[in-house]
Amino acid sequence: MLIDGAFVTGEGEAERVLNPATGELLAAVPEASTEQVHKAVSAAHRAFDGWRDTTPMERSKLLLKLADAIEARAEDFARLESLNCGKPYARALGDEIPAIVDCYRYFAGAARCVGGTVANEYLAGHTSMIRRDPVGVVGSIAPWNYPLMMAAWKTAPALAAGNTVVLKPSEQTPLTALLLAQIAAEIFPKGVINILTGRGASVGQPLVEHAKVAMVSLTGDVSTGRKILQAASTSLKRTHLELGGKAPVIVFDDADLASVVEGLKVFGYYNAGQDCTAACRIYAGAKVHDKLVADLTSAVKGIKVGLQDDPDAEIGPLISDRQRARVASFVERAQMTGHMEVTTGGKLRAGAGFFYEPTVIAGARQDDEIVKREVFGPVVSITRFSDAEQAIAWANDSDYGLASSVWTQDVGRAMKVARALQYGCTWINTHFMLVNEMPHGGMKSSGYGKDMSMYALEDYTVARHVMVKL
Ligand code: NAD
Repeated sequence: MLIDGAFVTGEGEAERVLNPATGELLAAVPEASTEQVHKAVSAAHRAFDGWRDTTPMERSKLLLKLADAIEARAEDFARLESLNCGKPYARALGDEIPAIVDCYRYFAGAARCVGGTVANEYLAGHTSMIRRDPVGVVGSIAPWNYPLMMAAWKTAPALAAGNTVVLKPSEQTPLTALLLAQIAAEIFPKGVINILTGRGASVGQPLVEHAKVAMVSLTGDVSTGRKILQAASTSLKRTHLELGGKAPVIVFDDADLASVVEGLKVFGYYNAGQDCTAACRIYAGAKVHDKLVADLTSAVKGIKVGLQDDPDAEIGPLISDRQRARVASFVERAQMTGHMEVTTGGKLRAGAGFFYEPTVIAGARQDDEIVKREVFGPVVSITRFSDAEQAIAWANDSDYGLASSVWTQDVGRAMKVARALQYGCTWINTHFMLVNEMPHGGMKSSGYGKDMSMYALEDYTVARHVMVKL
């Protein structure tokens, strides 16, 4: 772990970190003790005054250095991420690492563009101005589905804005964060970024509760978000929550079906569906429904599931046996209702590792569990709708509000539906595409923090009014 610029071993219990493709042990990673959490926060607190006084240009240079260093070690990062998550190596290297490098580069530039927009006399004889200042020590807590990318989404805007950080990766996927620690220690002043390993209850919780942590940022489950809000409430910390999702996908009768199928084959199953924006809840127009079920089923049958080093593998296993059992139980309960049909998949893959077959479930109804709850696995449901009002009502009838998409060739209809959807993001004739210039974040139970874009910098700064009597 990295505390105050020094590498230390966790003094707590060791977590067994597995290769999900084989179930074999990769490393036993000891977690931080409560005393070490305290040391990391104290280091970040001491470092804050010096770091906030650096100019945006100075912070920008260091973030660019970090981006270059990650790029130079791209293969090492991709190898570790793919081993620890079971992802195909080629996908980690080709898709994730470039986006991570770009995230640090984006915030290196954005750091220099933060500004208040006002200098004016709203009261005669007084000049008002707006400053955007860093919040202080940020406790950042990341999930296991994209460990390094989530670390980048959290640390890049926080550091760019002049905050110091204590990052805790998921106990299941700490390996790339530990390599990041090695690289970051050579670039940033000591204490500016600290990285702790460990579980939520024993390391995350004391981090959230620490009096010197001014802001907590979590990407994780809705239930974890609730716990963090409760823990943060005693000291009224600022919170930034990115929680789950259950993305609706509305396919109208006039949609280009071939591109819908080609898209959903990727957007519904990428990362084995362990993605909070996964295109998992399809609403299909009455005329297009049967063909969509048939064509998607045959496309999904062709998804290549494989080991990390298989260059043709499109997806890998689930993160753990527990996650696979959870996914399987959703499909079993769906089958037990009697009105749903598993048109492909629905089975564990025999042998080692936590593989689950890419699955399509047809005949799902709005009130079904499979339509309402986040599965976080390679399972997509299809529900038939009769008109646009019904599709919009069903899409919005969800506790979640992260991502959604609408597929139609009628631009007016696309815009009307996009306006009506209560989601942080709506894609038209695509899904899943993210860029560092645009915000990612939810509504309702999906949380309210924005990652990426200038909106993240707003979240990691405080708007302050300074007034001068002339
Ligand atoms: P999780 O909530 O179990 O864990 C997330 C992190 O929180 C981990 O580091 C964990 O150790 C920590 N944690 C758990 N309990 C804690 C506590 N009491 N105090 C402090 N920290 C605690 O989530 P997960 O299973 O790792 O990730 C999957 C979830 O993340 C899914 O629900 C998914 O939708 C969500 N997710 C959301 C986004 C988004 O951008 N909205 C992105 C990725 C994942």
